[in-house]
Amino acid sequence: MSERAAPFYCPYCGDEDLRPSAEAHGAWECAACSRAFQLKFLGLLSQGLKRSDSGGAEI
Ligand SMILES: [Zn+2]
Repeated sequence: MSERAAPFYCPYCGDEDLRPSAEAHGAWECAACSRAFQLKFLGLLSQGLKRSDSGGAEI
């Protein structure tokens, strides 16, 4: 499993014209809004994603 994650859309303007940035690992540049951002993998969720179908009520 690669650590590299590729975004499909700019999180700021939603454009798809993204290119990898040479400035930092995991950094991307948006050609539409000229923003640079970085993706970082934080880890796996301890419980995973579960649907609350077990009858447990939240809050
Ligand atoms: Zn953008």
